[in-house]
Order: sequence, then C-alpha cells, then structure tokens
Amino acid sequence: QPDDSDLDQLARTLDAAHVFHSWSAQGVKSALTIAGGKGVRVWDHAGRDYLDFSSQLVNTNIGHQHPVVVEAIREQASLLTTIAPSTVNLARGEAAKRIAGRAPEGFEKVFFTNGGADANENAIRLARLYTGRDKILSTYRSYHGNTGAAIVSTGDWRRVPNEFARGHVHFFGPYLYRSEFWAETPEQESERALRHLRRVIESEGPASIAAILLETIPGTAGILLPPPGYLEGVRELATEHGILLILDEVMAGFGRTGEWFAFDAYDVRPDLITFAKGVNSGYIPVGGVVIDDPIAHAFDERVFPGGLTYSGHPLAMASIVATQDAMESEGIVANAKRVGAEAIAPGLAGLAAKHDVIGEVRGTGVFHAMELVADRASRAPLPAADMARIKGALVERGLLPFVQDNRIHVVPPCVVTDADVAEALAIYDDVLATAL
Ligand code: PLP
Repeated sequence: QPDDSDLDQLARTLDAAHVFHSWSAQGVKSALTIAGGKGVRVWDHAGRDYLDFSSQLVNTNIGHQHPVVVEAIREQASLLTTIAPSTVNLARGEAAKRIAGRAPEGFEKVFFTNGGADANENAIRLARLYTGRDKILSTYRSYHGNTGAAIVSTGDWRRVPNEFARGHVHFFGPYLYRSEFWAETPEQESERALRHLRRVIESEGPASIAAILLETIPGTAGILLPPPGYLEGVRELATEHGILLILDEVMAGFGRTGEWFAFDAYDVRPDLITFAKGVNSGYIPVGGVVIDDPIAHAFDERVFPGGLTYSGHPLAMASIVATQDAMESEGIVANAKRVGAEAIAPGLAGLAAKHDVIGEVRGTGVFHAMELVADRASRAPLPAADMARIKGALVERGLLPFVQDNRIHVVPPCVVTDADVAEALAIYDDVLATAL
C-alpha cells in the first residue's frame, strides 16, 4: 500500500470536524484510520496493516472485500440499485429463500430490515400483534440494538439513558463464572436460572407476556454459552404459557459459532429469528426476521403494520445471495468450527495456563472470550485502565481486538486460518506478559 500520510491527516481532520460518533464523548478521538482491507486484514493510509480479530463489530464473517460478493454488488448496481419494497424483485426472493432455507422446517418467510436493531423491533411487533399481549422479557446481560424497543430490551448500560419504551421486563440469564444463583456446576446454573425465569413469568402474569427475547449466545455481554438444558427449558416455559420465543441471531448467526444458526447446536425451536451482521458480512446494511409459518400466515388477511423504504434493498439482497453462496461453496461455516476447535480453543487454554490475569476462557467457533481478572480467587474484573493499556498494546502490535468491559473477545472472520490464529495468539501472549 502507498504511504500517504496526507490522506490520513485529511481523514482525521474531516472526522474531527464533521463526524458525530456512536456511544462516545465526542472529544475522544479514535486512534485508528482504516483505508482498506482484504480477508482478515485491514490497513491504514500509511500501509500499516492489522490482523482483524474483531471482525469490526463481529460482522465481517467472510472477511473484508470477498471478491465474489463485491462483484455481485457491482453487478446488481449496474442492473438496479434501488426499488420500493412493495414491488416483486428477483434478488429479494433469492435472498429470502436462502435465509429461510437455513431455518428449521416451517419457517418460509423473511421480513427484511436495515440492520439488527430494527430486526428485533419488528420481531417484537410481530410477537405483540400475534399474541395480543404486551410485555417482552429479556436478560440484563444482552444487547439487542439501538432503537425504541430494542434498546429497552437490551440489558446492559446502554438501556438506562434510553428507557422510553414501555412493556419491558428483565431477568438474569445463566453465567456460571459470575453466577447470580450461587451455582457451582453448569447443571445447577441451568436449573436455577430456569427457576428464576419461571418466577419472573409467574410474578409478571404469564398472560401479559408476548415474548421472551434472547440472544442464543449473548455476545457483547461476554459470549455466554447457555449451559445444558437452559434454552430447551426456556422453550418449555414459553410454550407452557403461550409466550413466543424470539432468538436474536444478529451476532451469533451465519457461521460465527461454527453453525449456520447458533441455535442449531441446541435442541430448541424459536418462533421468530432475528439476523443481520454475518448474513452478508455487513457489506451493505441489512437485517431481518425469519417468521414461523403460523405467525406469517396470521397476516395473510390482516395488514402487517410495519415497513421500511429500504426493506429488501436490491444491493443488500444481491450481497446476501453472494455471501450465502460463497459461505456454502467455500465451506466457511465448517472452517469456523474447525479453527475454533483446533486452534482457538486450545490456544486460549494455553494462554490461560500461562497468564494468571486470565480468569476464564470460553466460546465456540470464532466466538471466544478471555475474561481478565485482577485476582483469580475473587474474580474481580481487571480495572478499565489496565484493559485500555492492553487494548492499546494489541493495536500497537498490529492486532485489532474486540475489547468489552474486562474481556478480550476473540472474534476473527470465519475465514481465519490456523496461521492467522497462531499469529494472534503470539500477540496476545506477548501483550499479556508485558503490558500490565
Ligand atoms: N442484536 C445483537 C445480538 C447485536 O450484537 C447487535 C449489534 O451488535 C444488534 C442486535 C443490533 O444490530 P445493529 O447494530 O445492526 O442494529
């Protein structure tokens, strides 16, 4: 790449003057300018490249600039760049068919949105309309997006300044390492978390609850794999009380866990599935809801009161078709599963054996986390200042990390190789040994 510090300076000047950034005080500037990327790497204007072990916001599942997908977008752009959602469009039908084809039998229809938040927004709307009920139950350790109902369904700190939607109730999901239930085994955690949820449902009044909204594997909250029986138990509780189950697969879906949908690894059938991110690696903003047939058919005669100008946007649709086909023909989901099991999991276990600062490692596929602690016995989270130092040192050594609270999430694209993982592990190892 050409060395062009002028472009870097221009990018920084324009950004500082005109760009209002997400989730941050505007006086704090990003240290990083990214000019281009390919596969698992991105680079700045000066030609310095970085190994992307964040997949940006855990979305570039096929890596950056996959040539087949870029070409499909180019082709669609030359044919038809935009069209109203009420029209019939071939690319839209092809995209919906592929997504529905990955869902369990009996899910035929897809409603397309602009991203993950409005996917959840519309799943919640569908659940309320279908059940005639109101409340949405979701966990404190969750992120569901930054719009009306989605941000209030979210459990983490981002909900609190945004609590303007009504009808939302939160509960604690399982998280054995920091158990809310004094559990010592995964079985205890599962059983007690289910008992807690049952009590919440009973206390809220089951007939007032439209849906339970869960990330199949809570992602930003810490890659919290559900213990044995938990998702199955939630499904049973929901069914017992006529409550719908919405599984949020926005981050976990489309290869991230080494499965097409994360829930494929569990014996659970949701009523509504939300997706975004990995469905097309974020090349064009898109998301959606996959709808169980009885719910979809409830709107055969009745009007669905929801829509978006860009629902089923042709560029997004073409990118979904090409992404899905590339993931299938190149074995990208199987690669995520293999690299996760053979390189990432043992590699992180090795780091944990070496560095006391690692309290726990967990994950599946290309969806892993290292939880860093000040003290292994008390499990006190590593302070924010130390996490910031670690993050800075990782970037300094050429690795783009996903750092959240006291955790490093190891979330490379699904196309990552064993050699990339070895390179990343060496950087984590070095930084954990020297940065604190
Ligand atoms: N749901 C989950 C599980 C997510 O991780 C995210 C984003 O990180 C969202 C929903 C929101 O998606 P978007 O940012 O595309 O609106």
